[in-house]
Amino acid sequence: MVISAIATADGVGGVAIVRMSGEGSVEIARRMFSKKTEYEPNKMYVGEIDGGDFKDLGLLVCFRAPASFTGEDVAEFHCHGGREIARGILKRTLALGARLAERGEFTRRAFLNGKLSLSAAEGMAEMISAQSEAQIRAGYALYREKLAVEGQRLQALLKAALAGVEADIDYPEEDLSEDAMTESLGTMSEVEASLSMLLRQYRIGRKTKEGVNVVFAGRPNAGKSSLFNALLGYDRAIVSEIAGTTRDTLEGSITYRGVLFRLTDTAGLRSGADALEEEGVRRAEHALRGADVVIYLKEENDGIVLPDVPVITVGAKCDLGRRHGCDVEVSSLTGEGIEQLMELLYARGYGSGEEGFLMVERHYHAVERALSAVREGISAVAQRVPAELYAEDLRRAYLALGEITGETASDAVINEIFSRFCVGK
Ligand code: GDP
Repeated sequence: MVISAIATADGVGGVAIVRMSGEGSVEIARRMFSKKTEYEPNKMYVGEIDGGDFKDLGLLVCFRAPASFTGEDVAEFHCHGGREIARGILKRTLALGARLAERGEFTRRAFLNGKLSLSAAEGMAEMISAQSEAQIRAGYALYREKLAVEGQRLQALLKAALAGVEADIDYPEEDLSEDAMTESLGTMSEVEASLSMLLRQYRIGRKTKEGVNVVFAGRPNAGKSSLFNALLGYDRAIVSEIAGTTRDTLEGSITYRGVLFRLTDTAGLRSGADALEEEGVRRAEHALRGADVVIYLKEENDGIVLPDVPVITVGAKCDLGRRHGCDVEVSSLTGEGIEQLMELLYARGYGSGEEGFLMVERHYHAVERALSAVREGISAVAQRVPAELYAEDLRRAYLALGEITGETASDAVINEIFSRFCVGK
């Protein structure tokens, strides 16, 4: 069945693309295009496109199965980027036998035809929805199968270990021989180390995807709001600024060195205030507990006790006077120390080291389950439980890793992932 959709964003732009995929898509395209020829794959042709009640002068490019994004025959019209132009051309493809694509159906077909793994499709979605360069980079690594390849490498090791166990025993109740046990444990500890390393990547990966949560703390009048604004103003590319009431929390985002930082300015921390302020304090404390890093505008004897999260102590209003014993001194008025504060935010809030590609929660859980199965397997061998039970741990780890690429993912999971895509992707 040929599916068809507008592949470009809904709106007015330079160019819009109407894309079809499936056997017969090139034939539908030919009927709508003034230039009738054997279209060479991957080559653009200029001609008139039939939009039903109008024509547009545009381009047609065809791709032939399996060398296309979906792995099927694909035809794309590139027309002028008007909403009604693209819609007219889309309608025409539908009138000629195509059906409207569902959300993510092009990518789903690519997945089903083995053109990309499930994690690669998710990486592509991360890139499209990215709010920072770091998220694009990590999404791209996923899209280019970095995680899938690592998962498959570990799956191959597990498979070999499983084959070793099966070859070693004649009966499921038997123990492993000494040799087989040593060899198997060697493999398992390699898998365990690799999985642990992947899990560690998520510490940074989660922040790459969601942004680093930065929360301000300090007494009222310490200078929090001014610093909040100075940081937002520091970066021209403000993503959003959501204002609540003055006693609520204020949120805004900036990117620094390609990483998204979500700033939350809280109501001042103090007790014994009225009911409304109490609510503000309650929210401030809640925000503080969820912080990746706290910017604490420290004053002498302010009585503030912070939760156990990374903290940067800031001596504010340094244009008025120095405050010693802080990580950094800043002035929101003159801008002094702001750059230094950003560097500290990056180092303590985001972290140094490898910018991994484990940033999607689903992948994290799959790796976590694989790791716990591997650990159970290792202790099973040590306790000399029957080999069949050990083999079961190996299989569980293998299946958990298969969820990353989609090999062993359920239809429900696959449906859920593609339903989050847009039509035309
Ligand atoms: P908050 O209650 O902690 O949010 O504090 P504000 O940001 O509202 O600042 C309290 C007061 O300190 C205001 O009058 C600000 O103008 C002043 N202030 C804040 N930052 C600076 C600074 O860097 N230098 C100077 N001179 N005054 C500042």
